[in-house]
Amino acid sequence: MTTYLSEALRKKIETTDKRRCCYCLTSEANSGIPMTIDHILPRSTGGDNSFENVCLACRTCNEYKGKNTTAIDPLTGEKIPLFNPRQQQWKDHFSWSADGTKVEGLTAIGRGTVVTLRMNHAVIVSARRRWVSSGWHPPID
Ligand SMILES: [Zn+2]
Repeated sequence: MTTYLSEALRKKIETTDKRRCCYCLTSEANSGIPMTIDHILPRSTGGDNSFENVCLACRTCNEYKGKNTTAIDPLTGEKIPLFNPRQQQWKDHFSWSADGTKVEGLTAIGRGTVVTLRMNHAVIVSARRRWVSSGWHPPID
């Protein structure tokens, strides 16, 4: 389904999100694939098209996020809300593995989001390995 957003709002989102996925930080420039518009609270559960509820996401994160708003922390089994890119800071909940190829959850929210969105699936980890060797990854900001 296509999401109608004004040109001004699209530009604000692209600038704020730096043309990369708000969850796994994959960039359009590295992947060669345009980002999708993610509704943080899905439209099917009442989410709107406001800036506070939309962000850029790669196709994989958006697909696995689906209608989910919660996840299970794999460490504790606790049900937690998914990471909210408009209300929370990525660095507070995630970091990169020492070799830069995997997203690691620092908190219950981070861990649950990594698992639910499958942020370390084999294909993306293989791609990140190439990006790291080229100096394109991980992002420094
Ligand atoms: Zn992503």
